[in-house]
Amino acid sequence: MYAEGVAEMAGRIRDEDIALVRERTSIGEVISDTVTLKSAGGGNLKGLCPFHDEKSPSFNVSPVRNVWYCFGCGAGGDAIKFLMDAEHLSFVESVERLAARVGIQLRYVENDNATPRARPQQGQRQRLVAAHAAAVEFYRAQLSTAGARPAREFLAQRGFDRAAAERYGCGFAPEGWDLLTRHLRQQGFTHDELVTAGLSRPARSGSLIDRFRRRLLWPIRDLTGDVIGFGARKLFDDDDGPKYLNTPETPLYKKSHVLYGIDQAKREIAKQGKVVVVEGYTDVMACHLAGVSTAVATCGTAFGTDHIGVLRRLLMDTDAVAGEIIFTFDGDAAGQKAALRAFEDDQRFVGRTFIAVSPDNMDPCELRLAKGDLAVRDLVARREPLVDFALRHVINRYDLDTVDGRVEAMRRAAPLVAKIKDREKRPEYVRKLAGDLGMEIEPVQRAVQTAGNGQPTGQRSAPARPAPAADSPQSMVEREALKLALQEPVLAGPMFDAVESAEYRHPVHAAVRAAIAAAGGAAAATGGAVWIEQVRDACDDLAARALVGELAVEPLRIDGEPDPRYVSVTVARLQWGSVTSRIKDLKSRVQRINPVSNKDEYFALFGELLSLEQHARALREQAAGGL
Ligand SMILES: [Zn+2]
Repeated sequence: MYAEGVAEMAGRIRDEDIALVRERTSIGEVISDTVTLKSAGGGNLKGLCPFHDEKSPSFNVSPVRNVWYCFGCGAGGDAIKFLMDAEHLSFVESVERLAARVGIQLRYVENDNATPRARPQQGQRQRLVAAHAAAVEFYRAQLSTAGARPAREFLAQRGFDRAAAERYGCGFAPEGWDLLTRHLRQQGFTHDELVTAGLSRPARSGSLIDRFRRRLLWPIRDLTGDVIGFGARKLFDDDDGPKYLNTPETPLYKKSHVLYGIDQAKREIAKQGKVVVVEGYTDVMACHLAGVSTAVATCGTAFGTDHIGVLRRLLMDTDAVAGEIIFTFDGDAAGQKAALRAFEDDQRFVGRTFIAVSPDNMDPCELRLAKGDLAVRDLVARREPLVDFALRHVINRYDLDTVDGRVEAMRRAAPLVAKIKDREKRPEYVRKLAGDLGMEIEPVQRAVQTAGNGQPTGQRSAPARPAPAADSPQSMVEREALKLALQEPVLAGPMFDAVESAEYRHPVHAAVRAAIAAAGGAAAATGGAVWIEQVRDACDDLAARALVGELAVEPLRIDGEPDPRYVSVTVARLQWGSVTSRIKDLKSRVQRINPVSNKDEYFALFGELLSLEQHARALREQAAGGL
């Protein structure tokens, strides 16, 4: 357990007050702020442990005994300990938080050896929260001033009246460099507190200035409703900052965990067992006002694993109780990328992830303005399972009227079906995919099986494992070239970049080659995980992205370290394959041309053929180099 001695650090809270706080606090209510609890029988409650990753609830709370304990990881304690662990508060901060909750006025005793203080020093967190609360009031009052007219117009144009602005605490950061800073300093907040809170920042001159100026502000709250930061929208054309600006990382504000609107949505999320993830502050407001009360948004960052953790505990997402997470997207490309991320982040989540794309590419805020509240509720109701969405996107890229198109679509879609963790659902998706493609079930099943075998399994010693496209020498050499560019960009970069994606015969390989170019080319890369991530982000389809992950870790087909000669040989063999196939095409065209009636075309093609053959001979020598 913790040492209560830490209370001495900042003006000791009297023991009897601490005891009173413990007694008055309902532990179930405190924990329910962040963890959804269900009855566990015998008056006890249970939920998903916030301190370790688990699928079924082993986190127990006994309101009678006023304690909590996790059978999974062994963590446990009282309400004070819970706040310390879950919110990273100090002992004093936790007691102060709970005291404020139950309305107890704490009394402090001075240390014997410390100089007497004029007033008890509060914990840092509480000071930063208080500074934010004061800032919210300041900004809110500014919203009705003459200078804030563009902010009021911005809200009005998006269908938000005064009541809506008040419900979300919208405010305006005024012109002037340090109006908020001076206001808060007058209220007794220190220079350091304002900087630590992210509300102010030091200017070059050394004096303190406001972080936000001439912007519309949304206060961002944590699960318990405390304001921990702001989102700020640009309003003026001469403001050369980004469109949206957020509070930087502070002891309060961790953007990987923050979800805008969670304080208002959490009860409904837990009750309905679903959450709608939208893209912006106005979308959250529009959804809530339209009756989609479970909407939240990330703030200045993509939806990630930590956000999933926050939501899973609210949804109590277990095998027994399935929570639903619905993403809304306005753009196709962005939507696909975000869907992909969800696919990779947490496989357990995939089966419960849904996508809602507005048919007119409008975000929920635009949709509400154009078509009303019902249209927003409809958008969410018409959600589609993530897997269906992803498959449809892949298939739509091909011409299914041709055999080649169908086969290629199947090859690209198969790895997605193979990725579905829930094995019982796979046959269903194989049938669906076969139906969508207009193909027999058997070849689709085989493709899915092959793709599944090609997934990295963690067993590194499997050099002969069948990969999705390693069915021909050309395919193999294309893979090898891509592996070199991903794993050894410094070595392979210039030679690799000289071969264009058109030289890659397999479409997924060509897509990866294009993504490498889009990521800036292999020659400019320094390698490592960052480089792989850049290429993955540049992929605009699911299969290519999956393949990048695979090729980044697949061993090269060379014993020992690759050298420039190995790169040169690989690149030459790659080109030789495409050159010889072009030679074959040209020869067949030359044969079909009448050299008498089409003399010019005949000689043009013949000349092309000769130079290609010359190129092929040079490549063959390069490819044979040293082997
Ligand atoms: Zn635990």
